[in-house]
Amino acid sequence: MIEVVNRIAELTSCCDREQLDVALASALRDLLQPHSVTIQRCVGEGDDRHWLTRARLSAGSAAATFDEPWSELHSLPKLVATDARCLAFSEQRMVLVPGPPHITCFPLYGGGAVVGVIEIETLADPDENVQRTVQGLLRIYRNFECLLHYSERDALTGLLNRKTFDESFMKATADLELPPEHMSDDRRVGGSSSGYWIGVIDIDDFKRVNDRFGHLIGDEVLLLLSRLMGRSFRIHDRLYRFGGDEFLVLMRCHGEDDATHVFERFRSNTELFQFPQVGTVTVSVGFTAVRPGDTPSSAFERADKAVYHAKASGRNQVCSHAELLASGILVDHDARVGPSNSPSEPRPSAPT
Ligand code: GH3
Ligand code: MG
Repeated sequence: MIEVVNRIAELTSCCDREQLDVALASALRDLLQPHSVTIQRCVGEGDDRHWLTRARLSAGSAAATFDEPWSELHSLPKLVATDARCLAFSEQRMVLVPGPPHITCFPLYGGGAVVGVIEIETLADPDENVQRTVQGLLRIYRNFECLLHYSERDALTGLLNRKTFDESFMKATADLELPPEHMSDDRRVGGSSSGYWIGVIDIDDFKRVNDRFGHLIGDEVLLLLSRLMGRSFRIHDRLYRFGGDEFLVLMRCHGEDDATHVFERFRSNTELFQFPQVGTVTVSVGFTAVRPGDTPSSAFERADKAVYHAKASGRNQVCSHAELLASGILVDHDARVGPSNSPSEPRPSAPT
């Protein structure tokens, strides 16, 4: 009994998603002593859905293994409709495949919906007691995950909120500092051109939308734009609402051209979209590569300067900070450590 209580205490002390999944896998491993426990999330859409391993622990292993969150979709195993995992996921129920090894799959909830499965491989038949223990622990996980979800998300759009940016920036970009032999395989394969990029997106003349159609319609534009972001960027890109009509994207790309293409696609998708009642809305985008030694605010500051330029030179365009430097429009005062404004400093109004 005390072991279960301790495990619940550990689980509910996590304030980070990766930690939470590892804590759940270790709780299940220590309580049930299975052959292995694997937590998998379904990523991708439609017919192109894959399993991303969030945490896997085997009987004798000291540390959990997992797939890089930035893994390319095609490198991950595809969903197979007849699989126990897939059945547990799509039918939202426990699925048992008799063995040995016996495989029991449970649906995994995140943000109120089924997002993956927990697969437990045991040598002994998992009796009702075991099943009830797992289901009880999963209910606690689900409630706690819900709280975490709401604390990380913007209430209107459901995108990540600004508060979570610094931590995920530091975590995502930690291996920019590493020598190649310590980088993840994924990064090595990508070569030196594979890196992180951030883009700041600001709606053009949004005050006019509010003034003309009212705040409720303005809110709807913000919500629809966040959905367009979800469709325009890739599954593992991190999308934030920074506040007001300002959004941010943290993503991995294979270079300037790739980043330009992705942001340009979003700008164009926005311009072509018909917003109910409002009609056309456009966005300005400024982006930059994340440099070794960057802090969240130094990278943000460069992207913000680029979006400022996009506003000042006509709006509805994508500006690269590197290109603005190369063309002499902007000056790089300090490429690595210079004083940085906090992202919370307001951007001065761009001339109209
Ligand atoms: P610019 O092209 O220079 O960006 O002009 P703009 O009118 O979009 O100006 P700015 O980005 O500075 O203004 C953002 C406006 O967004 C100001 C505020 O009225 C509105 N706003 C901020 N938060 C919300 C919100 O949650 N809902 C709605 N409907 N409007 C918001
Ligand atoms: Mg704006």
